[in-house]
Amino acid sequence: MDKKEARERIEKLKKEINYHRYLYHVLDAPDISDAVFDSLKNELEELEYKFPDLVTPDSPTQRVGGEPLKEFEKIRHLTPMLSFNDAFSEQEMLEWEKRYLDFLSNKLSPLTKRYYCELKIDGLAIELIYRNDLFGVGATRGDGKIGEDVTQNLKTVKAIPLRILGQELTVKNLRTAKLNEIADKLERDFPKEIIVRGEVFLNKKDFKKLNAEQEKQGLKAYANPRNLAAGAIRQLDPKVTSSRNLDFFAYALVTDLGQTTHEQEHLILKALGFKTNPHNQPAENLTGVFEFHKKTQALREKLPYEIDGIVVILNSEEDFRKAGIIGKAPRSAIAYKFSPREATTKLLNIQVQVGRTGALTPVAIMEPVGIGGITVSRATLHNFDEIQRLGVKINDTVVVSRAGDVIPQITKVITELRSGKEKEFHMPKLCPMCNSPVAKDKDGVIYRCTNKNCFARTRESLDHFVSKAAFDIPGVGPKIIDRLLEENLIHDASDLFELKEGDLAALERFGEKSAQNIIKSIQARKKIELRRFIYGLGVLHVGEETAILLAQKISNYRPVISNISGFIKAMQGIDLNELQKIPDIGPKVSESIYNWFHNEKNVEFLKRLGKTGIELIMEAIKEGKQKLKGLTFILTGGLNALSREDAKEKIRELGGKFSSSVSKEIDYVVTGTEPGSKYEKAKKMGLKIISEEEFIKMIE
Ligand SMILES: [Zn+2]
Repeated sequence: MDKKEARERIEKLKKEINYHRYLYHVLDAPDISDAVFDSLKNELEELEYKFPDLVTPDSPTQRVGGEPLKEFEKIRHLTPMLSFNDAFSEQEMLEWEKRYLDFLSNKLSPLTKRYYCELKIDGLAIELIYRNDLFGVGATRGDGKIGEDVTQNLKTVKAIPLRILGQELTVKNLRTAKLNEIADKLERDFPKEIIVRGEVFLNKKDFKKLNAEQEKQGLKAYANPRNLAAGAIRQLDPKVTSSRNLDFFAYALVTDLGQTTHEQEHLILKALGFKTNPHNQPAENLTGVFEFHKKTQALREKLPYEIDGIVVILNSEEDFRKAGIIGKAPRSAIAYKFSPREATTKLLNIQVQVGRTGALTPVAIMEPVGIGGITVSRATLHNFDEIQRLGVKINDTVVVSRAGDVIPQITKVITELRSGKEKEFHMPKLCPMCNSPVAKDKDGVIYRCTNKNCFARTRESLDHFVSKAAFDIPGVGPKIIDRLLEENLIHDASDLFELKEGDLAALERFGEKSAQNIIKSIQARKKIELRRFIYGLGVLHVGEETAILLAQKISNYRPVISNISGFIKAMQGIDLNELQKIPDIGPKVSESIYNWFHNEKNVEFLKRLGKTGIELIMEAIKEGKQKLKGLTFILTGGLNALSREDAKEKIRELGGKFSSSVSKEIDYVVTGTEPGSKYEKAKKMGLKIISEEEFIKMIE
């Protein structure tokens, strides 16, 4: 991006970010998620970093906070309602631990469970004040010091008790929970005022229902349950709040009832009659915290409410106090968030892929982007109708979402960020794979290739590409190729090298580990022997032996080629005559080779492979012991001492040739266990037949 383009992009980003900030902070009605907002802000920050003189004082990166609402009465919190700093990785958690330990000079209370872990619910933090057991005042966090009085609205939330359980029952409950010291204290003296804090939230089901109603009325949908909950609590009419079906979990006890750990706070809250989250639990150390984080992330999709991470708090109340506050957050607590499930990126291209039934599926090829902890680069667009529904064009900035194990989806186009260089997408009239005519289903939305063999051919050529004698990619066989084709993740071999972990992780049967392994093994094969590369292309009549001959022929070219553009040049430089001069290549084969390398589509395919950064390895022709020079072998049946591949390699290494069909040219027929029809044929033709042992003696 040059400076002029950067300036234009920055202007557009600033406008868009400011608009969404206004929707969020002033109107309480954002129409994009926090993750998408952050994604846009990150892009702006990066551009401003690259072009520092384009930073202006009005840039959203230059300001903090937002405008307050003015409709409710203000309430001053006796102790400030703090917010939490965020961590997104184990590394950041370790750094956080080190920071507060340094501050406390490594002196901590002797507790076996150092931390308390809670689910971080995507809701609205509130404070509740009970006087003489009765709910008196409820307030929002506001700026932490001054909140808004929303008592009437909170009274409509059924999970918030209007009266706590009172002295007798609370004491009884505390004894059941084995908190006898606290029970004794409260039996002597039950406080007149109790202050608790917690989270008001909306269940996913209600969120969906309310948003559907909202859309029915032609109103804008809420971006997340938190905003809807916040909107509901800040309604001037409590009847509206009541209709929203809000829920509540208590998570902090502000009043001192003799608690010494945060875990006890939760137990006391429960004893008082508050709803506490049953998933919360203490952890011995950070290892335990990491386990809890993992377990909770796996639970996330199944929970009835939305969470965006966990909150980790130093369990000892004394240590917590000593660690104090830094900025607006306690030093000894942190929000350990999950990776965001949405991000913005650039749509680079729309590729059309042909499925098993001939259906043409448009697939979005995107600038690789991290979502949910992994990188993705492609997303299916399903069909042409979906493209029209989204209104997406090539070069657009799009929002990509990935929830749980669901395949990444493009959910939105940010049209405000268009530059004018966007291109409309059209369904092709001819199949991009085989050039046959494309037809649209009658009364359907699917376009299909009319050639019945289209998919089978694509699959066959891909299977050939990854086969043992070609690229031989560990872990990527016909089964995986089938899955990748079915999920529209690849349309030809070049796509294999562009796949990102996140593209595979969503697939059934791939855990994230194996997706990672597959990507690794594909990337490792980017350095490939020239003969394997040529064989993998699947040129008609070019078997392994011919591929070797061609590789040898090219190896004589100077300068030595190592990239594909050099390879294309070299192959196109050999004319038919020269091809036929190569021993063992007849007119039929040379014609096939010549035509393949002069076909536009094939050259395009080679160029795509070249762009992925494939490196060709030229193998020096071994001069040493050419014991088998001039001899041709064929193998039939299973070998014991070495694999077929090793046997073939050995023959070639020693200057011999390997054949796959029986002919008079064959000098030795090596027979292993259970030799097949080749053996019978060879016997009839009177060829020389040897055992595996004899063969091994020859190559030793
Ligand atoms: Zn086709």
